[in-house]
Amino acid sequence: MAVYDYDVVIIGSGPAGEGAAMSAAKKGRKVAVVEIRDQLGGNCTHVGTIPSKALRHSVKQIIEFNTNPMFRDIGEPRWFSFQKVLKRAEKVISQQVMMRTSFYARNRVDVYFGQAQFEDANTVRIKHDQRGDDLLRAKNVVIATGSRPYKPDDIDFTHPRIYNSDSILELEYTPRTLIVYGAGVIGCEYASIFAGLGVRVDLIDTRDRLLSFLDDEISDALGYHLRNNGCTIRHNEEYESVEADDRGVVLTLKSGKKIRSDAFMWCNGRTGNTDNLGLENIGLEADGRGQIKVDDHYRTDVEGVYAAGDVVGWPSLASAAIDQGRAASADMLNADDFRYIDEVPTGIYTIPEISSIGQTEMELTAAKVPYEVGQAFFKDMARAQIYGEQVGMLKILFHRETLEILGIHCFGGHASEIIHIGQAIMTQEGEANTLKYFVNTTFNYPTMAEAYRVAAIAGLNRIANI
Ligand SMILES: Cc1cc2nc3c(=O)[nH]c(=O)nc-3n(C[C@H](O)[C@H](O)[C@H](O)COP(=O)(O)OP(=O)(O)OC[C@H]3O[C@@H](n4cnc5c(N)ncnc54)[C@H](O)[C@@H]3O)c2cc1C
Repeated sequence: MAVYDYDVVIIGSGPAGEGAAMSAAKKGRKVAVVEIRDQLGGNCTHVGTIPSKALRHSVKQIIEFNTNPMFRDIGEPRWFSFQKVLKRAEKVISQQVMMRTSFYARNRVDVYFGQAQFEDANTVRIKHDQRGDDLLRAKNVVIATGSRPYKPDDIDFTHPRIYNSDSILELEYTPRTLIVYGAGVIGCEYASIFAGLGVRVDLIDTRDRLLSFLDDEISDALGYHLRNNGCTIRHNEEYESVEADDRGVVLTLKSGKKIRSDAFMWCNGRTGNTDNLGLENIGLEADGRGQIKVDDHYRTDVEGVYAAGDVVGWPSLASAAIDQGRAASADMLNADDFRYIDEVPTGIYTIPEISSIGQTEMELTAAKVPYEVGQAFFKDMARAQIYGEQVGMLKILFHRETLEILGIHCFGGHASEIIHIGQAIMTQEGEANTLKYFVNTTFNYPTMAEAYRVAAIAGLNRIANI
């Protein structure tokens, strides 16, 4: 058995592992990364963020082609198969893998492919299928093993009509009807994708409102547009059974309803990847969701062992995972760029797209904060009219006395980009973080950014004479 010594060993090559690895390597440390897949990039690249966003982009292009009258000069609306849009996603995945692999080579980070398991807090065993194990020793180890879809025992995920967000990428036919069970972010995004392909989708929500952490108005808008695109949304439902045969799937709900469809996609919950890590060998225990507890420096209860990304739970986003990984490295190396990740914008790639930061109207009302609202509707904006994407709205919530910006909520084309302008202003100190920035700044015209100016003026008008 070969034994190798490092300063830092990282388990997992998703955004959290990559963030930790690059940060430690750039600070001159000898770093190794262990990955159980046969390619780098993590679940993020292979089955999560990247494929779902690439699929969505292709579906948006298909919708544009089928609904924009200009394209009728070159052809009638067309039907596209799921496999066709999947091809494009596969191309993006391989581009991402190639690019990410080059980061490791360029930064002299050693990569080991195999399953990592703790021997003790400073030793990781790599189990290989084809040859003997390796042992990596290091002062610090970062657990960045991510998460996977939760699979309840009473659903047969081996059946060719039953999928989750990982296995849906192996779907070999385009169903006419699909049940998406679970209306969290992943469920709503896939409901949008399939509805955009013309599939009749039943979206089953176990709660009474879609994405209840969003501002009410935005959540309502999402519900409206999903329905408009061919989704039936059923709230407050729970499954009794899921039975599949050669012809399709029958979902029986506890409310007594039965829904038949060609295929079923489970999108309800995820589990941290901790069961094969040998945590018992270092006296660490994951919670019931497979997640590892960390402090606000990403340290676990075991000296020298860190955890970051989906495996620690909130917010379970690639955007945060990369920063959490970097933060874990900064802490172990006593670097002055350490930052605890507590403010994360929401970016949801449904059709329409949603993004937000800060507090919602409900939160401000409950806290009795005297706030006011400024809105800009995309249908009234020149750039949105030019894009032909007139669905959408930007809403700024601000303190009616100090004009401080308290929350920004946006839906419609490019929402996840637009939000970052407001985010930059919200993080400023004092006077710089007020509505005044948007009225005292000249914006390019026509742009979507101009929505901030329009919303700010509308907001100031509301408080002008009171
Ligand atoms: C369908 C879908 C869409 C999403 N869309 C977005 C989005 O738009 N924006 C966003 O910010 N986030 C999105 N996410 C969430 C995002 O993908 C995750 O938050 C992110 O992947 C977490 O990164 P990570 O580094 O913690 O783990 P992962 O990306 O899960 O990577 C962990 C890696 O560890 C490896 N591993 C596990 N166990 C071992 C072991 N014992 N030994 C060696 N290697 C191991 C795994 O093989 C994997 O490669 C989405 C997720 C899904 C499922």
